Amino acid sequence: MNTIQNAVTTLSNGVNMPWAGLGVYQAEAGDEVKLAVKEALQAGYRSIDTASFYDNEESVGEAIRESDVPREEIFITTKAWNDEQGFEKTLEAFERSRKKLGVEIVDLYLIHWPVPGKYKETWGALEKLYEEGKVRTIGVSNFTDQHLESLKETAKVFPMVNQVEFHPRLFQKSLLEYCQNEGVQLEAWRPLGKGDLLDHEVIQKIAEKHNKSTAQILIRWCLENNVVTIPKSVTPERIRSNAEVFDFSLDTEDLQAIDGMNENKRYGYHPDEFPYEDM
Ligand code: NDP
Repeated sequence: MNTIQNAVTTLSNGVNMPWAGLGVYQAEAGDEVKLAVKEALQAGYRSIDTASFYDNEESVGEAIRESDVPREEIFITTKAWNDEQGFEKTLEAFERSRKKLGVEIVDLYLIHWPVPGKYKETWGALEKLYEEGKVRTIGVSNFTDQHLESLKETAKVFPMVNQVEFHPRLFQKSLLEYCQNEGVQLEAWRPLGKGDLLDHEVIQKIAEKHNKSTAQILIRWCLENNVVTIPKSVTPERIRSNAEVFDFSLDTEDLQAIDGMNENKRYGYHPDEFPYEDM
């Protein structure tokens, strides 16, 4: 049977990535994030999503080293922030992240946002890191299909992953289809709408039907759409229960009801409206 520990998707270069992992945005460096990562690893999670912007890479690395799980069993994602973009700057940023995490190789390195005028050059740095074997996979975050198309003009390697805001209120169906056709694994950030979707009556009804929590329904919905996801929690009980999403599935009726919730609502920025110039 699939569990959070063994359920993986194979990326376009043959590397396996867990379908579900732990997000650590706004998990405080130090005890808070360390306890969350350790709890997750104990519960079977094998993927952790951090970023230089989250300012907790050092603690994530420490927690991994202090856990009983061998490094090679864990898929670590980190990201180049907006002020770390450009060819040389990104190479330096990667080295900083790698040192903070205390690892030889990063499993997935992402461009955090498509900074206008810079992301193509940044992608060149990620390709270099990939060619040198310093990262097992490379990808992007918050890229629209237009950003991905424009990357084709210069890219030698196409992104293996695109991590975007994705939940029932923002069911990015055309981006999902585009990514599937191009061999890019879509990954959902903010799958719980940062908690806001947990009381939605459609989700509540489906949760009652399956005897599951509303968080589990939201996480399962990503998986039913072949989208990797990384719910965040620093609460041990929630971390454990968010992992219990491989012992049930949603039926057509459930999926139709959830699909009907789409209202193109974002909790974060649209990639074209991010205040890049204010950085
Ligand atoms: P989520 O949708 O994962 O929601 C997290 C919130 O939900 C927290 O407040 C958490 O509380 C709460 N929660 C978690 N599980 C449960 C549960 N079972 N019951 C009730 N409440 C619960 O939001 P995030 O914004 O954190 O997104 C997830 C991850 O995606 C991030 O951590 C980050 O790794 C990534 N991300 C990437 C972005 C990008 O630009 N690439 C942007 C934003 C996020 P508590 O922790 O107190 O338990």
